[in-house]
Amino acid sequence: MGDGDLVIRTRGLTKAYGARFAVRGLDLEVPRGCAFGLLGQNGAGKTTTIRLLLGLVRPTAGDALIFGRSIAEERLALLPRIGCMVEGPAFYPYLSARRNLSWLGDIAGGVAAARVDECLARVGLLDRGDDLYRGFSTGMRQRLGIAAALLLDPELVILDEPVSGLDPPAVLVVRRLIRDLVEREGKTVVVSSHLLHEVEVSCDRVAVIDQGRVVAAGEVKALLDPDQAWVDVSTPDPGRAAEVARGVEGVRSVEARPDGIAVGLEAQQAAALNRRLVEAGLEVRALVPRKRSLEELFHELAGTARVEAAELRS
Ligand code: ATP
Repeated sequence: MGDGDLVIRTRGLTKAYGARFAVRGLDLEVPRGCAFGLLGQNGAGKTTTIRLLLGLVRPTAGDALIFGRSIAEERLALLPRIGCMVEGPAFYPYLSARRNLSWLGDIAGGVAAARVDECLARVGLLDRGDDLYRGFSTGMRQRLGIAAALLLDPELVILDEPVSGLDPPAVLVVRRLIRDLVEREGKTVVVSSHLLHEVEVSCDRVAVIDQGRVVAAGEVKALLDPDQAWVDVSTPDPGRAAEVARGVEGVRSVEARPDGIAVGLEAQQAAALNRRLVEAGLEVRALVPRKRSLEELFHELAGTARVEAAELRS
């Protein structure tokens, strides 16, 4: 992939606070026109990465190029092209949502009232536009932050944990918004999340970050094998059930829990697993498909060949 197609390119991006590395030698390549997930557990370095990308903190080493230009050196020129929501957006409590957005627009040289309303509508807040910000719930504040990030129609949108704290309907609104920005408008969207499923449903590409390093990166499809399934089996004898499950063809991981076992297996083998457990005289109270957790992904990445960061450049 040529550099011209990259909206973000970091090389050895590093941020240390004292002796602690928040981000350690990060090489990221974000192509134009995709939704890119930064996936990692609490403290992995996602927010620090985003702050580095926005030039909010200076790197200890390495650099970040946005649209091919150094964010550290050309921040003022680059910022108008970037919309962001990071670390709880600040709004005036005694202004309405609409006034807050139009005020932000004024600072940037003026934004049409219709654009303000369009942004409110895109996050499902149009009918609350005249309410004071101070009366907004956490989820509404978060959505207004996203609306603010879109206000100036930026080419690159960076959202730190955009769905955390949102209720299920609002999560759907934000997922749809991310896909629309990419698919209909050709924008590039970077989102951080600690939720594997969230990245699965809204992102095209992902970098998995652990302790400030990229441990896997590439296309979401390639990283998250569709032939792999996860089921929770509820049974009164988890120890023996785990033993039996380990002997079933296509079973890749088994974990005993107090009330049953959690199994990772080839998708088409769930029925065989059920049959073998019953044949072994075990009572199967339920066999429920579920989503893979981020912890399980880390486990797999540690145990299997990693999707190398170099794959991004292919
Ligand atoms: P979360 O999901 O909890 O928001 P995160 O992946 O966004 O986590 P960061 O906020 O980037 O993680 O933090 C990464 C590490 O850097 C943590 O160990 C954190 O304590 C440390 N860190 C971040 N900012 C600072 C700071 N200003 N001073 C000292 N340490 C910091």
